[in-house]
Amino acid sequence: MSQSMQVSRADFDRLMVPNYAPVDMLPVRGDGSRLWDQQGRDYIDLAGGIAVNALGHAHPQLVEALTEQAQKLWHVSNIMTNEPALRLAGKLVAATFADKVLFVNSGAEANEAAFKLARRWAHDQVGPDKHEIIACSNSFHGRTLFTVSVGGQPKYSQGFGPAITGISHVPYNDIAALEAQISARTCAVVIEPVQGEGGVIPATAEYLQAVRALCDKHNALLIFDEVQSGMGRTGKLYAYMHSGVAPDILTSAKGIGGGFPIAAMLTTDRVAPALSVGSHGSTYGGNPLGCAVAEKVLDIINTPQVLDGVGERQAQLTAGLRQLSDELGVFSDIRGQGLLIGAVLAERWRGEAGQVMKLAQEEGLLVLQAGADVVRFAPSLIIPEADIREGLGRLRSALLRLVG
Ligand SMILES: *Cc1c(COP(=O)(O)O)cnc(C)c1O
Repeated sequence: MSQSMQVSRADFDRLMVPNYAPVDMLPVRGDGSRLWDQQGRDYIDLAGGIAVNALGHAHPQLVEALTEQAQKLWHVSNIMTNEPALRLAGKLVAATFADKVLFVNSGAEANEAAFKLARRWAHDQVGPDKHEIIACSNSFHGRTLFTVSVGGQPKYSQGFGPAITGISHVPYNDIAALEAQISARTCAVVIEPVQGEGGVIPATAEYLQAVRALCDKHNALLIFDEVQSGMGRTGKLYAYMHSGVAPDILTSAKGIGGGFPIAAMLTTDRVAPALSVGSHGSTYGGNPLGCAVAEKVLDIINTPQVLDGVGERQAQLTAGLRQLSDELGVFSDIRGQGLLIGAVLAERWRGEAGQVMKLAQEEGLLVLQAGADVVRFAPSLIIPEADIREGLGRLRSALLRLVG
C-alpha cells in the first residue's frame, strides 16, 4: 500500500468495523484550534478531540517533546522503567493528593485498574464480601466490560453477556440515595466530579464532601473519574481541587497526553500496596513516548497562566452562548465548569443535539453532543479569543438554520 494511495470517507464504511459513524469531513491537518479537511476547508475546533487536545493541535512544545523522545527511546516494556515515566510520576505526585502513580493507555484502562485496585484492597483488608462498587446513574467510565458494568448507561452494557456483578447505581448529586445504598460491603464509590458524557453536570461541593464522609464512615474508597474533567479542563489541575475533597484513587486520561494515548491512575500510600508485584499490568503502560509528551502537557497546563486563562475563556464562551440563547431561544441552560460546557437544548429542540453538531460542521465548526439534548464544548484550554468569537459566529449560522 503506497503512501500516496487516495482514501476518502467512503472507505470507512468499506473497511472499518461499523461501531463508529464519523462525520463526512476527513481532517488531514490541525494547528491550534483549527482543523483542515481533505478539500482544504477550515474548521474552528470547539470539540478538542472530545476534551483531549487540551493544548490544541500541533502545539510546538508538544511536537518538540514527542520528536525529541522519538529519537531516543520509544518502548522498553515494564521489565524496565524509564526516565520520562519517573519524571511525570514525580510531577503528578507533587501536584496532587497522590503518593503513587500507575500509567496505562486510556481512560477505560485507568478505571479498570482503579476498580481492580479497590476490590483487591478491600479483599486484603477486610475480605471477599467487601467488593461492592457504587456508581452514579448516567455516569460514563469507559467501554471495557468492567467499566461499562460500572457505568450508569445500560445501553453500553446490554447484549454483551453477563455483566460484572456487585455494582449498583444511585442518582448523581443525591446524598440521601448514596446513604441508603452504602454499607460495610461497599469497597468503593466512583464519581465523576463533572459528569461529561452524561450531560455536562457538575457535582456540588457539598455532595462531594458528604460522599467523602460516607466513604470514611463505611471504610470504602472514594474514586474520582477525572478522565474528562482533569488536566486543567475545569480551571484547576483536577476538578476535585475546587471542592477540597481528595479521593483515594483518581483516574486521568484524555487531556493528559494532549492527543497522545496515555492515562494514569493516582492513589495513596495507604491503598497502592494492594496492587502488589504481578497483580496487574499493561505492556505499553508508562511508555516513554507518551510520558515525555504528558510531562510537557503537565508543565504547560499546571501554571497560573493557563489555568486562569480557562476561566477567562469560559466567561467569553458562555457569554456568547447566552447571547445566542437570548436571541434564538434554542437553549434552556448553559452549564458546566471551566471549558467543559453544556448548552441544554430548549424543550422545542430536545433530541436535536446531533443535528446541531451536523449543521455546525457544515458551517465550519466542530462541537460535540452529550446525549441527545446537550451540545457540548470542550475546546483547547489555550484557544485564542478570536477563534472563540469566530466559532460563536459559525454556531449562530448553524442555529439560524436549525430554527429555520
Ligand atoms: C472518555 C471517558 C472515559 C473513557 O476513556 P477512554 O480513553 O475512551 O477509554 C472514562 N471516563 C470518563 C469520565 C470519560 O469521559
